[in-house]
Amino acid sequence: MEKKAELIKGKAKSIYETDDPGFLIMEFRNDTSAFDGGKIEQLDRKGMVNNKFNNFIMQKLEAAGVPTQLDSLLSDTESVVKNLDMIPVECVIRNVATGSLCKRLPVEDGIDLVPPTFEFFLKDDALHDPMINDYHIRTFGWASDEEVAAMKVLTFKVNDVLKKLFADAGMILVDYKLEFGRYKGEVVLGDEFSPDGCRLWDAETRAKLDKDRFRQGLGGVVEAYEEVAHRLGVQLN
Ligand code: 5GP
Repeated sequence: MEKKAELIKGKAKSIYETDDPGFLIMEFRNDTSAFDGGKIEQLDRKGMVNNKFNNFIMQKLEAAGVPTQLDSLLSDTESVVKNLDMIPVECVIRNVATGSLCKRLPVEDGIDLVPPTFEFFLKDDALHDPMINDYHIRTFGWASDEEVAAMKVLTFKVNDVLKKLFADAGMILVDYKLEFGRYKGEVVLGDEFSPDGCRLWDAETRAKLDKDRFRQGLGGVVEAYEEVAHRLGVQLN
């Protein structure tokens, strides 16, 4: 498969066309960003770790019946992915209260959320990804009602699979963000799943093992991602 022009340069990944219109190449860069691009740094090895981490998680999800964008691992920092028509919303599930939830609502940081919450956000950096609901999605035509229903079902299914996967490796899946797209009439999990887009805490100490280390300037960001990968058995080399 031939790598062609760069189609999209995101904050941490680039998407390239290929000679097959059905497939794209997703490149995971070392760029690490927070606060809608307000803080950007290059972190050695992060592209490689996230590419392999994402590959591992997407394979687990496929095996559990969640259709994903992943096709195959191409190199240390690149994967071949299906060419989805992306839906411009983010789906967030929270198992533990923290982050923006505790800024918006009178909820104590760190409490378990039973049942977990589900939120939609619009993917729009300029507007800082505002929270939206099903009615906004319908009125503005961002997705059909059937697609909204499918995104909810799949996001909760991902929660069932990954909460257990991380718990078995001594971690709490605190919250995460997913994005979906359309592929041959089906709603498919797109983008990535890595510690850049979720919160993971050590089950015993509650130490942060995710991008909050970068957001909060705690250091040891890639080391924490590698620790998570190691605990799950992700092959990095
Ligand atoms: P919060 O709403 O608390 O900031 O984020 C909730 C969860 O979704 C966190 O795991 C966070 O990493 C993830 N998340 C929300 N928005 C984004 C985003 O725009 N990019 C990334 N990488 N993750 C996001």
